[in-house]
Formats: sequence, structure tokens, C-alpha cells
Amino acid sequence: MDSTTTPETPNETPNETSRRPSVAQALRLGENNTQPTIGAGGKRNWVYPREIKGFLTRRRNLVAWVLLFVYLGIPWLTWEGVPVLQVDVFARRLALLGHYFYAQDIRLFLPGGLAFIVFVFLVTAKWGRVWCGWACPQTVFLQFVFAPVEKWIEGRASTRRARDAAGFSFDWAWRKIAKNVAFFGIATLIGNTALAYFWGRDNVLWALSNSPATNPAGFAFVVAFTLVFYWVFAFFKEQACVLICPYARLQSVLLDERSLIVGYDANRGEPRGRNAAGLPGKREGLGDCVDCNQCVQVCPTGIDIRQGVQLECIACTRCIDACDMTMKAWKKPVGLIRYASLSELEGKRVGGARKRLIVYGALMTVLASLSVYLLVTRPEISIDALRQGRSPYQMLGEDSVVNTFTLNLRNKGTMRRDIEVVFAGPAADANMQPGGKSALFTVHHDWEGRRYSLGSGQRRTLPFHVTAPRSVFQGGKREVMFRLNDGKESWDFKVLLVGPFGNVGPAAH
Ligand code: SF4
Ligand code: SF4
Repeated sequence: MDSTTTPETPNETPNETSRRPSVAQALRLGENNTQPTIGAGGKRNWVYPREIKGFLTRRRNLVAWVLLFVYLGIPWLTWEGVPVLQVDVFARRLALLGHYFYAQDIRLFLPGGLAFIVFVFLVTAKWGRVWCGWACPQTVFLQFVFAPVEKWIEGRASTRRARDAAGFSFDWAWRKIAKNVAFFGIATLIGNTALAYFWGRDNVLWALSNSPATNPAGFAFVVAFTLVFYWVFAFFKEQACVLICPYARLQSVLLDERSLIVGYDANRGEPRGRNAAGLPGKREGLGDCVDCNQCVQVCPTGIDIRQGVQLECIACTRCIDACDMTMKAWKKPVGLIRYASLSELEGKRVGGARKRLIVYGALMTVLASLSVYLLVTRPEISIDALRQGRSPYQMLGEDSVVNTFTLNLRNKGTMRRDIEVVFAGPAADANMQPGGKSALFTVHHDWEGRRYSLGSGQRRTLPFHVTAPRSVFQGGKREVMFRLNDGKESWDFKVLLVGPFGNVGPAAH
């Protein structure tokens, strides 16, 4: 095309055309630093994304409803009487698949948490922002719940834009009121579902169905969650993705030239433009982009994907569907905007394994396996013997050393257990007698012959003292064993006794 004689779009001068960046420049990460939803002086530019139907949007719709079903359904599900998933902040425990996990179990999740972070790196490096476009609750709720309701009450995007621009009228007012009432109702549902993940389904239902005076704090939570969700989806909308989402900020380091993105094929599309009549037909010297602007009009973040990869792009694929419709109408091959890597869009051939993905995959597998192993082998009873008193031990006369402890037991499982505690003696105690009696060690407690009933999640503390002759301490230490049993299973645990240094006892001890 002779850019000095034929402008590419009706509004451009030839000089503007010649200043357009090259393909490589246009697709460089972070090239476009403007924020289309924020105008001069920081004023909000409201986006009215045009409705779109298409291959990918239909599939995203399907995925969205499955995810909505899962999200709204999980708080109603229990496993052996325990919520399937609840981060119980008030009881400071996590309910997961019929098990309770407590603060001391955090270490079991650490490898899994790191594996999840590596998994996010891996998925992003390979498939870009597929999470944002297909599964993020912000996208799913905004595009597949709130947007259809908005369209149902206020009409299509073009109608809404025109009505808002015209200003106050009865028609404008009743539709705004109706829409916000509907939004508030939906926000109540999803906001309190979110609250149920932390506070429990029954508590939330109780707070919603009782007078605020009965439980002002609970009512405050219900109101706060509802208002936050209402504000986010009625007003803040796409700003959550473009301004505050930390994951979006990480894109520039997580993506590389071989990551899958939603991208515009500038080699094929440029120079863009219609023919003189602005109609399908002969377009000598022009690329496949007919500059219909449909890709911009459907974009929920208001960007023009033809300017290259931008942090505001949530990879929602709406521009792909819009452009494919245009391509079909102009009888051109689809895929001018498509899922592709930057290398592919720039026409580079890059082959071979990506070391980065291999390292991520290996690291993730090791960490996830470790976490699964720790979780699967976690005992159902947590046992902690905590030393009591100001000094680690006390002397009783010249020869006897007393160690004082509190035994903390917690039933982390879902079944009630009747627990018995037995002193099992030191492994090398040749004088150990049946029934937990030792000639060397005396355990003072009140659990003799008793069974303690521990319901799911219940704790019990049992104080005890161990008295031993100073001769049994080697290097100031000696381990002894205890055993818990509930008639079906047993759990051994060690308790470290401390005593005076410099009293190496006989080997038999
Ligand atoms: S540029 Fe396309 S994929 Fe990115 S947010 Fe806009 S419509 Fe979605
Ligand atoms: S929808 Fe396709 S043809 Fe239309 S302006 Fe966007 S890239 Fe060009």
C-alpha cells in the first residue's frame, strides 16, 4: 500500500499511518501504557462491551456455569458431617474433604502451597492468562451473571450507552433502580456464599434469617460481604482486573515469547483498512483487517488488541469471536485474532523443549507429591507434650529428677475416639514391666485405667510428671515412650526428659 496516498482508516492521516509501530514493536510486552478505562484527570471511562456470540464464547459460557454450580454448591456439601471445604477462621481450622486441619498442620500444606505457585507459573508460561479468561470468579460473575442481567433490564450495550449519554429520564431511572435491585440480590447470594466458606453455611443462614440484634457481629459480616460484592460487580467491574489484580501485574514476568496469548496477527492484518467504499470487495494493498472495530467494541476492558499484548487483556477471547464473525462476513479465513504465541504472530519458528516448563513441571511434581505424602500420613490424633514450669526439670532430693508436662491431644478426624494413654517406657529399659510400669521411671498422672472421649475436632489436656533417677540421663537427656490407643489404632510418641549434665548412667539404662 502507498501509505502516502491512501489513509488506512477514515480518521487517519498518511503521516499517522507511517508512525504505526512495526509488528515486533506492537507486540512487545508492555508496549501500550495507556489505560483506556481512565480518562483525562483520572475520570472513569465507562466501558459498554458489545454483546458477542461465537465458538469460544459459547464454550466459556458452558465452563462458567459449571464453575458457578461448583462455587455455589460447595458450602452445602458435607463429608462425614464435616464441610467439604471451609476455612473456619473462628475455630482456626480448615475443613477439607472430611478432615480438620489446624495451625500446626500448616507445614503439611507448605509444599502444596509452593507447588500451587509453581503450577500458576507453569500454566501462565504455557497458556498465558487462560485462568483470567475462563475461570476467574471476577470474569465468570461479571460476564456470565451480571452482564446478562444488565442486558435484560437495560438493553444492549449501544442502547445503554445512548440512554446514559442522554441523561436523566423516567426510563433511565426505573431501569437503573431495577438493575441495582437485581444486582444487590445476586450480590447477597454470592457474597454470602463466599462468607459461608469462612463462617459456615449454617451460621450464614442463621444470620440471614434472624434479627440483627440477635447477633450484630454476624449481621455485620453478612452486610459487609454483600456490599463488597455489590460494589465490585455493579461499579468497580473491569477495574478489579486492570488496577488491583496482582496476577495481572505478574504477566510481564510470567509470559515469554512462546506463551499462548490472545493476539492479533499484524503480519496478516496490516495495513488495515476498507476499500474506498468501505464495503467488501477489492482492497488492493491492504491487509485482512477491515478496521471494523468490532474487536474493540466487544472488549470488556476497552482495549484494542491490535496495539499488541497489554496487561489489561484478560484473554477472554471475545475479540477472537468478534473478528472471526467479520472475517466470515468478508469471506476471509478466520483467526486474524487468535490464540497464538508472540513468536508465531511474528512469523518466527521456535522449536524445541522449553526448559522453563520442564523445570516448573518437575518442581511442581516433587512439591505436590511431598504435600500429598504428608497429608495422607498425617495421624488422626495430634499429640503434643509441652514442658511446664519455669525450669526444665526439678530435683527431688539428691537423686530424683522430675519433668513436668501437659499432654495436648486433639482429634483431627471425623469420628469420636475413646483414647487411653499408657506409659511405654524407654526402649532400653530392661526393667519395663507389663502395664506401663517401670522400675526406673515413675509417671504421675490421673489417667490410670481411664478412657477419654474425644469428639471430632475436640481437644483435651492431661498434665503429668515423670520422675527418674539422675543416673539414667546421658548428656542431660533421656527419651521415654508413651502410647495412645482407642481400641482399634495406636499411636506412639516420644517425650524428651531432661536432667543434670555429667551423670552418665549405666549402659543398661
Ligand atoms: S483484547 Fe480480546 S481477549 Fe483481551 S480482554 Fe479484550 S476482548 Fe478479551
Ligand atoms: S475485528 Fe478483526 S477485522 Fe475488525 S478491526 Fe478488529 S482485527 Fe480488524
